[in-house]
Amino acid sequence: MTQTGISAGSDFIRAIVADDNRSNKFGGLVITRFPPEPNGYLHIGHAKSACLNFGLAAENGGQCNMRFDDTNPTREEVEYVNSILEDVRWLGWDWGDNLFYASDYFEQLYEMAVDLVRKGKAYVDDLTFEQIREYRGTLTEPGRESPYRERPIAENLDLFRRMRAGEFDEGSRVLRAKVDMASPNLNLRDPVLYRILKASHHRTGDDWVIYPMYDFAHGQSDSIEGVTHSICTLEFEGHRALYDWFLDELDIYHPQQIEFARLNLTYTVLSKRRLIQLVEGGYVNGWDDPRMPTLSGLRRRGYTPEAIRDFCERIGVAKRDTWTDIALLEHSLRENLNRTAPRVMAVLDPVKLVIENYPEGQVEYVESENNPEDAAAGHRLLPFSRTLYIERDDFAETPPRGFHRLSPGREVRLKDAYYVTCTGVVKDEATGEITELRCVYDPDTRGGTSADGRRVRGTSHWVSAEHCVEAEVRLYDHLFTQEDPSDTPEGGAFTDNLNPDSLRVVAAKVEPSLAGAQPGYRCQFLRQGYFCADKDSAPDALVFNRTVALRDSWARRGRGA
Ligand code: ATP
Ligand code: MG
Repeated sequence: MTQTGISAGSDFIRAIVADDNRSNKFGGLVITRFPPEPNGYLHIGHAKSACLNFGLAAENGGQCNMRFDDTNPTREEVEYVNSILEDVRWLGWDWGDNLFYASDYFEQLYEMAVDLVRKGKAYVDDLTFEQIREYRGTLTEPGRESPYRERPIAENLDLFRRMRAGEFDEGSRVLRAKVDMASPNLNLRDPVLYRILKASHHRTGDDWVIYPMYDFAHGQSDSIEGVTHSICTLEFEGHRALYDWFLDELDIYHPQQIEFARLNLTYTVLSKRRLIQLVEGGYVNGWDDPRMPTLSGLRRRGYTPEAIRDFCERIGVAKRDTWTDIALLEHSLRENLNRTAPRVMAVLDPVKLVIENYPEGQVEYVESENNPEDAAAGHRLLPFSRTLYIERDDFAETPPRGFHRLSPGREVRLKDAYYVTCTGVVKDEATGEITELRCVYDPDTRGGTSADGRRVRGTSHWVSAEHCVEAEVRLYDHLFTQEDPSDTPEGGAFTDNLNPDSLRVVAAKVEPSLAGAQPGYRCQFLRQGYFCADKDSAPDALVFNRTVALRDSWARRGRGA
């Protein structure tokens, strides 16, 4: 396994491509495409498909086209086109000059449909959508032929031309392929090729009032582009016979469709329809909410493209549907950030600590390592003074067994600074809450090591009260409480499984080096996890997202909560 996102390993698709290269089936060419419909933002499942298609092309010195399957003007928007291009680029893939739109082929597709009509392989049907559905039959019953199925070719040609000219109302007529109403494969029971839709298209405007169905557009687009391996998810397996039928009847260049299992990720929904519901229902704050499995959400959360590509490589490609544990995605992320993220000190739940024997007004600078995993990362200086903040839960008035951090009379290390011993506790008289910890420090322990070899068991991170910076910190948890969020009691909606605690906001104190953090800046808050400055962050109002905790807390809690 490499770190490049380009897998050196193999899977059944790579084996097929290697075979085709050996047998010269496509003249040694490997041309793939990544074909999103611009009806939503890309999610981590799309990343799997993009990494597969772009990765295969890269490994084989081939080409991967960026193609929009934009055949449905009622659901598609320019906003989605732009976000998809940005996300694929961010993942690190490059389509060069090969950016295409199925809508660019509308004229050619129309001519292909006319060709099928001429060959007696397509007809204009006047049945309504409901009747077409009713005539289609079921898995156990054959379909019935439409009374319009035997229309003369000349009449079909005339009617189809007039459909295009806008002479008929929406829903009054469709063009259908003439395949086989008795086929056990329902996709072959005279599928609709064109319907009348008097809607403006984001690219072709009002040029068209008939639009091709996805199945009719997809394979022919592949053919026009000279795609060799048309890789799609398993739900299209049953459509392959139709894919092949169109290309054979039209007698045009024939790519090979290959299906693989889509990504299912625990605690996550990966369907644009559902993601749209989350956005439009206000369950999340937009497509790029850091809890969303969209690439824009993951990016805002602090995910790196390297981590996502590494994940896609690890999960591999298979022919059978499975679930992938979200912990694996987080594992790839931690591995990547562990190597690259500078370490800083941030106190998420601060309590004041006053060092009674440290001179008032004195400030000294202690040296701290930026990244123990990266020798080149160097050191920085942290201001240390009489009044500090540490984490509230790094102190216990009556320490439970196994608690090694601060408690009355006990000595601990303040990381990279000094040993301190707790001498007292100040409480709010009304609430009993601890407001201040009193300590003394040992000046002979500078840097966090004792000259006399005296050892302490606990180490706490800290910030200097006078020098630290305030920051809003957003702590995230899984968006759903169920491994499979669609698993609900009878009549329940997947939104019933939303995790009410998926976002918790705290007011933190962070070290002064973070004052200039730009949105997108990633670091590790020591002991707390990896964090990323949010797009809402400003120099005088820092906002950090917790990208991921240092450990998988759900694994400890036990799964299937
Ligand atoms: P959704 O089901 O999320 O609405 P879709 O299949 O309708 O997705 P498309 O825009 O058609 O989305 O997808 C573009 C490409 O990404 C297709 O090749 C599709 O098969 C693939 N893809 C979509 N979802 C996944 C997934 N969960 N895992 C792997 N590939 C996926
Ligand atoms: Mg789709």
